[in-house]
Order: sequence, then structure tokens, then C-alpha cells
Amino acid sequence: MTSDIPIRVRPEIAALPAYKQGKQAGAEAFKLSSNENPFDPLDGVVEALQAATSVNRYPDASAARLRARLGERFGVSADAVHIGAGSVAILAQLVQATSGPGDEVIYAWRSFEAYPWLAVVAGATAVQVPLTVDARHDLPAMAAAITDRTRAIIVCSPNNPTGPIVTQAEFDDFVAQVPPDVLVILDEAYAEFVTDPDAVDGLFVLGNAGRDNVVVLRTFSKAFGLAGLRVGYAVGHPRILDAARSTSIPLSVTLQGETAALASLDAEAELLERVTTIAERRDRLAAALREGGWAVPQAQGNFVWLPAGDETMSIAGEFEAAGLIVRPFAGDGIRISIGEEESVEKVLRIAASVVKDLP
Ligand code: PMP
Repeated sequence: MTSDIPIRVRPEIAALPAYKQGKQAGAEAFKLSSNENPFDPLDGVVEALQAATSVNRYPDASAARLRARLGERFGVSADAVHIGAGSVAILAQLVQATSGPGDEVIYAWRSFEAYPWLAVVAGATAVQVPLTVDARHDLPAMAAAITDRTRAIIVCSPNNPTGPIVTQAEFDDFVAQVPPDVLVILDEAYAEFVTDPDAVDGLFVLGNAGRDNVVVLRTFSKAFGLAGLRVGYAVGHPRILDAARSTSIPLSVTLQGETAALASLDAEAELLERVTTIAERRDRLAAALREGGWAVPQAQGNFVWLPAGDETMSIAGEFEAAGLIVRPFAGDGIRISIGEEESVEKVLRIAASVVKDLP
């Protein structure tokens, strides 16, 4: 094949780097690069999957059983719930449904890498508002960035990759300043790991504040350990979710994904015990790192953030050489997922040996 072919790709797409996945780990290494759940799937989930054999049939396009179940759980109607092949798929749908060329999408930066990518793919303009010095959303600055071209605003709590939450009071104050025709997407992919009682709870917002322009995104990938099956969901006003459904690629949520999500909800108490274990490991790791001299910001997801500035790539290399696959963001810092118990001790050992290299 010739390398130079005359297909016209949109220039902004040609300029996009491909999505970069966290590195895979070799047999000896701990994979702490993708905020995955380190626990094996529960027996009940595996059994339900083994029974879901009708792979010659298309799945139910609307994942009605899962929507009904989540609707019941959150006290909303099933049409206020939308299921996607991962919450990132729903994010893409919401951005596409609201924002096209000439429109602006506001989000904090640094945050989840998919945000700029989704804005560009939709043809919209990304407006990045820097985090505060303690790696939190600067919601007053985000409110000030709203223009009459703003169509969507993404708020990530806890923020990936830095860790802090947005408080309920901050969020309420912020949303009160957003025009009612601008969509606010509250990305709570890590909600179940949150232990700070002041944190925003999107489902509480929807139930109580009557904010029709807020959509809450959650996922089965993290706390529920189903990253490989791709199931996420949105809760919000049915009109907004209908718009998302209109842009979605039909039939992308599989029977296996829906089945495993339902089985996970059956086993929720056990899964949430695991979440508690992960949150305890996180708190222990963050406290020990701070004691060791690292300026780790508030950590409320299943990961911690090491601000490492220009040393980021070399320090990440030292972790990797020691069998810890972490996620570096060049020039900024390193995100380390909370994994197996032994990995926590190992992270601490390596972090202690490299802290002396920091400026
Ligand atoms: N939002 C945030 C903040 C994330 O970190 C992630 C996963 N890294 C997602 C959404 C997407 O998760 P999924 O598509 O697996 O539901």
C-alpha cells in the first residue's frame, strides 16, 4: 500500500493523536495506568455471563432492563436513564447533540483526556479553564468563561487525573450561573469511591434541585469492575437523553454488558465492600506520600496524583523499571491507580526513592 493517498480527512481530525491507552503490564508488573478495579469479577457476574449465550441475536437496543433497574434505584423513570457502551460513549453523544462548529464546550484542564478529543470530533471549540493550584476545578473561572456560544460544560468530580472533588455548595452555586439552555454534564465516573461528605452528588442534584440542564454520568467500569464490558449510564431529563440517543451508534451496548451490570447490581453490597477497601488503600497511600514530601492533592477517586513537573517522564520510567505501570502526563504529573495491596507498598518504596530528584 502506498502511504500517501488522496482521501480528504477533516484537518482537525488528521491533527488528532489516536487515543492513548494506559500501557499493558507484563506478567510481573502491576498495571496502575488505567484506573481499573484490581479485583477479579464476582462469581455471580461470571455465572450470569455464562448464561447469556444468545450471541447470534442482536441485543435490546435500549437496554430496557438495566434502565428500568437503575430508574427504580434512583427514583426516576426509565426514560430518565440512558445506557451507553461506556460512559465515554454517552459523553460523545451529549457533546455531539449539543455542540457543533462555532459552539463552545467548556471544561477544566487538566482533566479527562477524552474531553478535548470529543469537542474536536464534534467540530466544536474546546475552552479549557485551568485548575486551581491545588488541582481543583475553578468553577468561578468556568462560569466566567461562558459566552453566548457555550453549549455544554463538563464538570468532573472527582477529577481525573488529579483527584479532588467539587463540593455540593460549589456545584449549586455554579449551576445557578449557567443559562438554562446550556447543558452541564457532571462526570461522576469515580463517584462510588468518594468519602468526602461535602462532595457533590449528582443524583441528589437531579432529585432535589430541579436543574433540568444537568446530566449525571456514571459507569460500571470502575467501582463495579466491568471496564472490559463497556457499560456506562446517564441520568437526566428525558429530552436531553433523547438527543443523546439520536446521535448514538445503534446496538452498541451488548447483552453481556447489560447482563453483567444487572448481576453487579444484585451483588452491590459486596462490590461496595471492595470499593471501601480501595478507598482505604488510597487514603493510606496518599497520606504516606504526603508525609514523604509529595504534594499529593485531595484524592477521592481510585487513584492518586503525583505532581512531578518536568521530571514526570523520568520518574514514570523509574516506576516502570520497578514493575509499576503508571500513567504519566508529560511536564505535569503521574497518575497512579489504586491496585492490589502489594502494589501500594511498592509504589511507596519507589516514590520514596525518587522524591529526592524533585525540584
Ligand atoms: N469519565 C472519566 C472521568 C473517566 O476517567 C473515564 C474512564 N477513564 C470515563 C469517563 C469513561 O469510562 P467508561 O467509558 O469506561 O465508562
